[in-house]
Amino acid sequence: MATDSLRLYGAIDLGGTKLRSIVADGGGRILGKDLRPSQSQDGLDVVLERMVESLDASVAAAEVEAARLRGLGIASAGAVDAVRGIVPGAPQLPGWDDVPLARILEERTGLPTRLENDATAAALGEHRFGGGRGSRYMLYITMSTGVGGGIIIDGEMYGGKSGAAGELGHVVLDMNGPPCGCGARGCLESLASGTAIAEKGEQLLDNGKSPILARLRAENGPVTAEMMHRAADLGDNASREVFREAGHYFGVALASYVNIFDPEVIVVGGGVAKAGDLFLDQARVTMEDRAMAQPLKGVRLIRSELGDFGGTLGMVARMAEAEEGRA
Ligand SMILES: [Zn+2]
Repeated sequence: MATDSLRLYGAIDLGGTKLRSIVADGGGRILGKDLRPSQSQDGLDVVLERMVESLDASVAAAEVEAARLRGLGIASAGAVDAVRGIVPGAPQLPGWDDVPLARILEERTGLPTRLENDATAAALGEHRFGGGRGSRYMLYITMSTGVGGGIIIDGEMYGGKSGAAGELGHVVLDMNGPPCGCGARGCLESLASGTAIAEKGEQLLDNGKSPILARLRAENGPVTAEMMHRAADLGDNASREVFREAGHYFGVALASYVNIFDPEVIVVGGGVAKAGDLFLDQARVTMEDRAMAQPLKGVRLIRSELGDFGGTLGMVARMAEAEEGRA
């Protein structure tokens, strides 16, 4: 592969359980990649070591000299301070407290390092290289353990006054609803995230309503959204109903986003969206039923194209554009 003239970048997606890294060119072509457990339960120093090891493995897989990399981008779980390169702390990263992650990795790798929240980075990745390519008005929502998002307005990421904008998971759908991790009640995240779906699954078991799910739980341990999906596929009606209800909540949120942002395309990522059509089909029906006619016209609701690589490719786009004088 003729890579000598390409600008190359490293990027790492840091999650609570997994850590993914890539080496890619500025056009979003991945040359090398690595995936390993982040071992976040073992504390900060172990995670930092794993990050550097993973980047090294990606460089080796790409068969390029490490010195060719022009920068390192980190897409991290949690509400990061992108301007100062600091991770204030996140439930997925126990023991982290105002960690100057960008500076630490800059020292360890010798590469200029940028940091973004993982959902923000994935939104940028989908816009530059994925399902939102060519659009000017795009929303990205990741439906996973939590619910994150990003907003592209006129082709650029909308950050708000402090970079904290885009929390599409924390639109309130039921003001007296279940408590949410953010401190409010009845947010989309508290009603339709993977965590919320799993909790509803446990309730089904308490009520004795779901023999298929009960069998899967007995074989595999605590209920997860994936397990609920398997149960739904096996014909468990109660599990199917949970996905349909979560999809309905999501559709109500989508209708509000459509009315507010008048987007061209809404890209949905994360494990819950991957889990079969039940969820997204119901969301689409509800969105179309509830949104206002004019902004709804022509809206495309699609699954993420980049999948697990949205965050890392978004950081590559960020670095490449910074070098070209954009962003
Ligand atoms: Zn919330």
